[in-house]
Amino acid sequence: MASQIYDTDLADHASGPEVASILEAYRALADEDGRALLARLDPRALDHVEVLEPWGEGDWFYLRYGPAVTAAYGLDMAGRLVSEMPAPLAATYSDILARALVERKPLLGVFDSVTVQKVKSWERLVLPCRSPCGADRIATYLTPRCSREDLLTAVLEASQDGIMSVRAVRDPQGRVVDAIIVTANQQASEYSGHPVWRLVHGSFKALFPGLVARRVWERCTRVIEERVTERFEINISHRRLDTWLRVTIVPLDDGFVISFCDVTDLKYALIEAECSREELAAEIEQRLALEQELRRLSHTDELTKALNRRGFEAVLKRELAISARYQRPLSVIAVDLDHFKRINDVFGHAAGDRVLIEFVDLVRARVRADADAVGRIGGEEFVVLLPSTRQEGAMALAERIREAVAEHRFEIAGHGIAITASFGVAAIEGEAPEDEVLRVADSALYAAKRSGRNRVCLARNGPDVLQARAG
Ligand code: GH3
Ligand code: MG
Ligand code: MG
Repeated sequence: MASQIYDTDLADHASGPEVASILEAYRALADEDGRALLARLDPRALDHVEVLEPWGEGDWFYLRYGPAVTAAYGLDMAGRLVSEMPAPLAATYSDILARALVERKPLLGVFDSVTVQKVKSWERLVLPCRSPCGADRIATYLTPRCSREDLLTAVLEASQDGIMSVRAVRDPQGRVVDAIIVTANQQASEYSGHPVWRLVHGSFKALFPGLVARRVWERCTRVIEERVTERFEINISHRRLDTWLRVTIVPLDDGFVISFCDVTDLKYALIEAECSREELAAEIEQRLALEQELRRLSHTDELTKALNRRGFEAVLKRELAISARYQRPLSVIAVDLDHFKRINDVFGHAAGDRVLIEFVDLVRARVRADADAVGRIGGEEFVVLLPSTRQEGAMALAERIREAVAEHRFEIAGHGIAITASFGVAAIEGEAPEDEVLRVADSALYAAKRSGRNRVCLARNGPDVLQARAG
């Protein structure tokens, strides 16, 4: 328990002038019977006086308890012991009494209340006296120094929040129709633009039409009726400035306490943070798109837009793993344009490039866009990956592409030029590394070249050509 004890300049430390006059009377009668002192006090001062006598080991007995003290403390201690008071209070109180008795001089103490009482702190002037028969006595003069009301008022005024307590006004049917403001602090006046005297006893609805319009009154009546607490933020125009208020409404008797504080700066900081977050998110999205595009480019052949070798091998590896896990078949067709060098030699490199582009488009138009992959793994060498496709399917597709190429007329320098291609098919069932798959398909392609070009050859899990079909 907080306490302060003064043993010099007592009158200077006292909160009122009574202490000085009591001390004066006391000094004049210091060696007299203590009753002489009491007789000298005016009745109002006497109302604040307790008389105690030592009682055994460190305890004290109340011979007298002033009626003003009874009223403030809420209990008459006359005929009772100091040790019956709450322990921390009894301990500090006994100490100052004992000290005054030993030192035989007046002391002034200020003690904070230990329990929730009307009075938050007490001032005690402690005066050692004697009874008519010379026994030790202590007279104390007690003044409440700070009441709960004072404290609440100080807290209200110290608050940065606008605070008002409000009492409900009900119609004859008991419905809440308005509310009367009972107390309002200075901040409430600042926020509302009404002086405190106009707020107090004023109609809540009449004084705050803006809040009524913003449906705050509905929240107020909910607090009164349902005894719930409401917390929310509203945007208002305060002194022509855009202002955000954080509002709290808590029930109190048949009414409520409403507090509001300005959170505009906080709100704008949050909005700003939110904007930067959105900007950041947009930037991240942009970067991801860019990264995706870079990845796509790094896997794409610039000329034909087919997958390049790296891109194709990545897809092949992934598809081989899936096929092995789910025991699905997978086929690869290797393709090489026949005598392509001649095209370049006769029509030039640029014409050759256009043929390569046209060739890839031709292949693409014949495979499943969502499942198959077309890659360019050499100058005029291509591969087609066919997931979930068996040998027969792959052979049939290779044959269709072969025919389409052979029948197609490539537009070169105003001429329709016929070109053919050779095909090697590798059909995989089970596990196989990707380079092995490509090697097998390539060996079948080599066989197709050897056996006259413009044809499809099949290899399966080995370099041997199992089947060749002439075009
Ligand atoms: P084969 O039937 O044996 O495959 O004969 P080929 O002439 O197609 O084969 P070869 O390997 O002798 O020649 C391939 C040619 O492809 C040589 C090269 O100039 C050409 N080539 C490779 N890459 C490109 C390219 O990006 N553009 C063009 N226009 N030609 C290319
Ligand atoms: Mg070739
Ligand atoms: Mg070649």
